Amino acid sequence: MAAPTRDTPAKGRARQKRGEGQWALGYREPLNPNERAKKDDHPLNVRARIENIYSRRGFDSIDPGDLRGRFRWFGLYTQRRPGIDGGRTATLEPEDLDDRYFMLRVRLDGGMLTTRQLAVLAEISQTHARGTADITDRQNIQYHWIQIEDVPTIWRKLEDAGMTTMEACGDSPRVILGSPVAGIAADEIIDGTPAIEEIKRRFVGDPQYANLPRKFKTAVSGQPDVAHEIHDVAFVGVDHPEHGPGFDVWVGGGLSTNPMIGQRLGAWVPREEVPDVWEAVISVFRDYGYRRLRARARIKFLVKDWGAEKFREVLETRYLKRPLLDGPAPEVPAAPIDHVGVHPQVDGRFYVGAAPVAGRVDGETLLAVAKAAQRAGSARVRLTPQQKLVILDVSGAEVPALETELAEQGLHTRPSPWRRSVMACTGLEFCKLAIVETKARAQALVAELETRLADIQGDLENPVSVHLNGCPNSCARIQTADIGLKGQIVTDPEGRQVEGFQVHLGGGLGLDAGFGRKLRGHKVLADELVDYVERVVRAYLAGREPGERFAPW
Ligand code: SF4
Repeated sequence: MAAPTRDTPAKGRARQKRGEGQWALGYREPLNPNERAKKDDHPLNVRARIENIYSRRGFDSIDPGDLRGRFRWFGLYTQRRPGIDGGRTATLEPEDLDDRYFMLRVRLDGGMLTTRQLAVLAEISQTHARGTADITDRQNIQYHWIQIEDVPTIWRKLEDAGMTTMEACGDSPRVILGSPVAGIAADEIIDGTPAIEEIKRRFVGDPQYANLPRKFKTAVSGQPDVAHEIHDVAFVGVDHPEHGPGFDVWVGGGLSTNPMIGQRLGAWVPREEVPDVWEAVISVFRDYGYRRLRARARIKFLVKDWGAEKFREVLETRYLKRPLLDGPAPEVPAAPIDHVGVHPQVDGRFYVGAAPVAGRVDGETLLAVAKAAQRAGSARVRLTPQQKLVILDVSGAEVPALETELAEQGLHTRPSPWRRSVMACTGLEFCKLAIVETKARAQALVAELETRLADIQGDLENPVSVHLNGCPNSCARIQTADIGLKGQIVTDPEGRQVEGFQVHLGGGLGLDAGFGRKLRGHKVLADELVDYVERVVRAYLAGREPGERFAPW
């Protein structure tokens, strides 16, 4: 083949693909500031500085590289400075947005808590976080108003009770989602808890897996109740015709600005092998993941470029050194599973799922839940990926009193469809990336819809999900909602720049796995949000065919 000359048309020239910064291909030199910061000093080293220097000398002593980078490996972000409106988010420097207080995220793998742990979380909220304690859609608890001086004390309280903030954020293996009702649900194929605990025990906090190209999200569940389609890696319960219960492996899902549904590897893994396969997948990501551009550094881009077949081949030949067994796909649930309500357990007792609005609770409420659960004879509570709470192991006789006590805390076990299906991210109240307010807006939306749509509540076989994001990131999974709302500044009829949302319609997981359609120019002013949702829901109910769900819009 002739070498390209100066006269060769650019189009026809064989293009030299620029390196993507993959370690396995020899790109060990950092290609962006984030990679440089991780190479200069391992992010896990920051804990010692927080304990020995920053917590003693105060906020002003914190190195900026730690403040806006390495702190994340221990669940710490500066929160947004109050009083800065969303229109200025993109125009200010990060330091102008930084408050002197922190958000602190506690990782609760599988959403698992004892009532004693819940009481500890409540005490920390009341003593150190001005009462804040949101339930996130990754089964975490998120505090605000944390001062650096208090962080070592908070860690000691958490760790004494068996909890941690280790790798709750950062380019690391984040909290592992798991079924809130693992081990007790009648319709579960296999209990994923031992695999979650083993992954956490062996790999969380291991420096080998703490410098990834970007974050790495895992889900392990014996039933499809953890949004497995949108995880970096997921293990979903499936019955193999010859080998019995085990897990189907998915890789490369994720949301944000380039949403992708994960791909099945077509491999069946027995529970005891899940941690090894997980280690192999995260190792592929660490070694082959793209580290040049942050926007392309999630595993989904690698999986998209390689395809599931090549990914599985690399996994088997270079990492596991053995082939995986082929296996069937998991069953798809007919409707989203959120565990709200009262449900029988396999042992004759009941689990009781209750719905706060958009995950907003506080320390006082958490303490009341811990006490109510204990009075009902339960020692176990779970957080869900839908920002809900579930109390396990309740005898039939105790259920009514527990439901009453929860309702007194605003936690309803028979909630309206809106209380059940509205989710919201942190938003402008605390998040530095936010453009619009979300939590308070979600609460107002639920209250209004409960009144305005009371007449059609019984007509909704499945609640219409409404998810609110404060910016183009997708912390509240807007692309998978029936009505997904992405916060942005819009122009109102008078020409003013005001808060509003870009609308995505008809997203879903399970049977309707796919992302909502972003309709060009389809924006709604924040002030008109309630009117808009009411209009859309009434139009759907008036126009649907028998049995038609919202998603096929
Ligand atoms: Fe912050 Fe945006 Fe995530 Fe909301 S979606 S929590 S505004 S980064």
